[in-house]
Amino acid sequence: SSREAPIVIIGTGLSGYTLAREIRKHDKDTPVLMITADDGHSYSKPMLSTGFTKDKTADELAQSDAAAMTEQLGIELRTLTHVTGIDPDAHEVLIGDERLPYSRLVLAWGADVIRLNLAGDGLDHVYSINDLMDYRTFRKAVDGAQKIAIMGAGLIGCEFANDLRNGGYEVEVVAPCETAMPGLLPPVAGDAVINGLREEGVSFHLGAAVERVDAAGDGVRLHLDNGQTLEADRVISAVGLRPRTGMAQEAGLDVGRGIRVNRLLETSHPDIYALGDCAEVDGHVLLYVLPLMSCARALAKTLTGQPTEVAYGVMPVMVKTPCCPTAVYPPPADSDGEWHVEQNGNSVKALFRAPDEQLLGFAVTGDYAIEKQALAKEVPPIHG
Ligand code: FAD
Repeated sequence: SSREAPIVIIGTGLSGYTLAREIRKHDKDTPVLMITADDGHSYSKPMLSTGFTKDKTADELAQSDAAAMTEQLGIELRTLTHVTGIDPDAHEVLIGDERLPYSRLVLAWGADVIRLNLAGDGLDHVYSINDLMDYRTFRKAVDGAQKIAIMGAGLIGCEFANDLRNGGYEVEVVAPCETAMPGLLPPVAGDAVINGLREEGVSFHLGAAVERVDAAGDGVRLHLDNGQTLEADRVISAVGLRPRTGMAQEAGLDVGRGIRVNRLLETSHPDIYALGDCAEVDGHVLLYVLPLMSCARALAKTLTGQPTEVAYGVMPVMVKTPCCPTAVYPPPADSDGEWHVEQNGNSVKALFRAPDEQLLGFAVTGDYAIEKQALAKEVPPIHG
């Protein structure tokens, strides 16, 4: 019976929808069933951190609704439906007591936001923004607000800081690190972004963590572990994402930081594949759009009879902080080499070179950001 069963894709984010679109380029007939916990709107997630700058409501960011996507892609789609488990031996997906057969199963269910374990009675005013529904809720919550505190100075925290500032809010960022995006940028480039944001009027409390969030009037009072307090109307938590691996692990799939797949996007179990924010592809966990697009193109071919390995090229990450435009291609972890830095104010060109001078990674900010394309041609791709 599993021969007539559809290809089932769990998740309608950029991974799920891009995959479905790619499958339809090769094959119009194979039944495809998509299942999503959200409302199935198609949208570009990177737009969520430019929404105040561009003054876009959630409805304006939504590209097509579930009905339009069903039609466009020639698929079946179940929205607002939480998959609760996988039975790999039976080739079935579980939705509570219901069982749905699959011929091939694709996990494209994304990453969870990390939530800090905070004390206090003001936690209702703390928001995470990781999908369009979150964004809708947050827009409503800040209507009439003036001051937003952001926990976290990673890529998403910095982008929201710039975006909310452009939207006219007062912004204070609290983060335990000493500079911006420590996991992604060398400190000299992180400092440039911090300076750029400070010049826009963003305040930073670095080297400090929020311990408790108490209700205060219509807003909150944040207590930091350095003894400081600060007040804000609303709080964004942007302290990181964790690939969703729980249900895969319960089903016996091999997981590491993400659901482990090889370059064919195959998990450890037959007929189950993964891509996007939930996947660890050949050892790489890359929570960005370009990698998932490469995966979707390769996997669509594999699923339609042409086994194809993904080949990651050079994919610099663009940080959407217009006050200090930034592009980065981090060197592989544990690379031998060192950073060479040129700097002019907030414009930084940091090049990571191996002892033989080979460029292995780079971070460029400000006026140097436009050099990203030229530099990308000099570094080796992830899959050479
Ligand atoms: P998601 O979009 O998270 O989709 C997951 C899907 O799975 C959803 O439909 C969800 O409902 C569904 N799902 C989850 N659990 C279940 C379940 N149990 N049952 C059924 N369905 C389930 N990347 C860039 O490259 N450039 C950028 O500029 C950039 N900016 C960003 C800005 C922000 C604010 C954020 C949050 C991310 C940004 N990213 C950026 C990252 C990029 O957007 C993500 O890597 C990408 O969108 C992930 O897509 P996905 O489809 O894998 O996951």
